[in-house]
Amino acid sequence: MVSAAVGLYLSVPFCKAKCSFCNFASDAFAPSRMEGYVERLCAEIRGARCRAEQMGATLERAADSIYFGGGTPSLLEPEHFVRIFAALREEFDLAKDTETTLECAPGQLADATLDELLRQGVNRVSLGVQSFVDREAAAVGRLHTGTACEGEIARLQSAGIENIGIDLIAGLPHQTEVSWRESVARAVARGVKHVSVYMLEVDEESRLGKEVLEGGTRYGAREVPSEDDAAAWYEVGCEMLGEGGVLQYEISNFACAGYESRHNTKYWRRQPYIGFGLDAHSMLPADAYAVRFQNADDLDVYMSGDKQAPLKMLRHDHCAEVRRVGREEAFEESLFLGLRMNAGVDLRVLRDAFGESMVESVIPAVHEAREAGFVVLDGDRLRLTLRGRMASNEVFSRLLVTSAA
Ligand code: SF4
Repeated sequence: MVSAAVGLYLSVPFCKAKCSFCNFASDAFAPSRMEGYVERLCAEIRGARCRAEQMGATLERAADSIYFGGGTPSLLEPEHFVRIFAALREEFDLAKDTETTLECAPGQLADATLDELLRQGVNRVSLGVQSFVDREAAAVGRLHTGTACEGEIARLQSAGIENIGIDLIAGLPHQTEVSWRESVARAVARGVKHVSVYMLEVDEESRLGKEVLEGGTRYGAREVPSEDDAAAWYEVGCEMLGEGGVLQYEISNFACAGYESRHNTKYWRRQPYIGFGLDAHSMLPADAYAVRFQNADDLDVYMSGDKQAPLKMLRHDHCAEVRRVGREEAFEESLFLGLRMNAGVDLRVLRDAFGESMVESVIPAVHEAREAGFVVLDGDRLRLTLRGRMASNEVFSRLLVTSAA
């Protein structure tokens, strides 16, 4: 794994209401729990170096990205951010140009909080719009209108935050191709620099997904478009965003040139990152290749860690999983995560890192995938085609079978 400045992720799982499609560990937890949560989070940050050592992992002091996700971190009080940033600055040397992102729900960022965030160096906001069409947003429990989203973008821009990203979901209840085009067009018209496009996930983990799977009618489950429609709209979205200068750089992510997310790119390039808070994930370099670990996804379990004694925060008290990533797994991760990006992977770099025979083991499957139109191989540079991006899981499993053989 390339040694690089670490990315810092802070999970803040508090939301005003739980959206029906959401399968994160976030919830409408009582705001009275925020104070204790922030205390716990700061203790975890201060104990991070010790925890990394106990796992045999390396945690550099240099950091160049901070990402507040969740949840709706904008719901924290200004004073909470003062404490969190103080803990981060104690433990890490933040680069001058650190990319500092706050996830925010439109209409849920108080003026005083925004002022404090600007003082602390927040320079990027990711707004959970999902849809600019009021009927669709309301159907899944979003508390905003399209006009309110546009107003929020303008407010942030005039506060000096030019790096604004939004999330959109293809496949929401009541969505049509016309309404999907409207959402994408309104995003482009507002001059946002980054757009993440997700397909609605229909799984047991969300109320809406469960209802769809069980054939129920609640949460607009009967109005969820077909997967084929959502996939076609994703393609429409790629085209419209590209025409608007917001170019695809990863399967779900699009940005104006120079505005690709530095923090998220660490995930796809397997650069080190550490997550703090509920259900946060981390990957740090370790003796052989890497160690991945993940915090508990139950708030009570996470909170049960000892707030006063960070040195005692051994992995068993709030860590759901610790996994060592060996050579083979690290190779597969490099291949599959790298292929998520439009730039693809450089097989020469993989050969240098993992050896000729490891790369050779996937070459027959690469050729098959190329014949099927899923990938292009340009010299040593391997990339997914649009078709491959639409069927990425299938492509990855073909390559996986070969490399495991
Ligand atoms: S989608 Fe965002 S705002 Fe809605 S419940 Fe999930 S984390 Fe909270």
